[in-house]
Amino acid sequence: MSEINLAVQEITADMIARVDRGAVATYIPELAGIDPARFGIAVVDAEGAQHVAGDGDTLFSIQSISKVFTLTLALGKVGDALWQRVGKEPSGNPFNSIVQLEYEKGIPRNPLINAGAIAVADAILAGHTPKAVLGEILRFLRYVSDDETIHIDRAVAASEQATGFRNAALANYLRACGNLRHPVEMVLGVYFHHCAIAMSCRQLAMAGRYLAFAGRHPTAGGKVISAERAKRINALMLTCGHYDGSGDFAFRVGMPAKSGVGGGILAVVPGKASIAVWSPGLDAQGNSVLGSAALELLSRRMNWSIFGE
Ligand code: GLN
Repeated sequence: MSEINLAVQEITADMIARVDRGAVATYIPELAGIDPARFGIAVVDAEGAQHVAGDGDTLFSIQSISKVFTLTLALGKVGDALWQRVGKEPSGNPFNSIVQLEYEKGIPRNPLINAGAIAVADAILAGHTPKAVLGEILRFLRYVSDDETIHIDRAVAASEQATGFRNAALANYLRACGNLRHPVEMVLGVYFHHCAIAMSCRQLAMAGRYLAFAGRHPTAGGKVISAERAKRINALMLTCGHYDGSGDFAFRVGMPAKSGVGGGILAVVPGKASIAVWSPGLDAQGNSVLGSAALELLSRRMNWSIFGE
């Protein structure tokens, strides 16, 4: 068994035995019933080998991990002009903070908090219908993950649409500040649906390869994005990908990574691996407790912190 395989198996056994798992998100009713005992992991290495363990093939709601993919599409569409309406600084605040958006006059701190991702959804809507944009997001994910089965969980989207009042507040405030060009309902429709995409750890680790391997598509060949852009998206994931837990995550794990309230985390080790973990129990910042713990162990064991050995 390879070193990575052994590490993945042992870390999975360790995680399954742990009792301190955090709390499943309940503010999206459809996510509230997920079994907190689940744990999955998938690592795709530089040779393209897939190392999968636990519930690594179970579908879960990727939620905010989708923000990395919509950011990639928005940069493809509008390039650096995006930075006129969204910042690049860590927020130091909860992912759904309202007070920060008012304070900063409708320019979200970064594209990975909710307000920033709602502005990104507005940017990719330009000239398209919400249906066409969602089709484009799915096509992109199917292409980067080499998997045609990736889809949106409509029940999760409807559940958030019915209860997402904070996001509606953020979108309305963006619109009031002139930082939303389409009707609020239209932009939120796109946002809630891309958050509701269902993927497994294996699919997500495959999807993250273009970020881990300098923008390249390892199997189809060619570039998904430039190496420069991959580097920048990784920088944003490192500094902003875990909201007000980003500093702690960098300290413990040392990998660019993006979490979601479904309990997933996508992490990249540039040049070495694309990793996805999933466990639905969250900490106070909305990040997966066991997912972070597993990545911390893996980082230490494989010497994968980007900050040195
Ligand atoms: N759809 C979720 C929300 O807007 C995404 C949040 C997250 O995953 N952190 O609240």
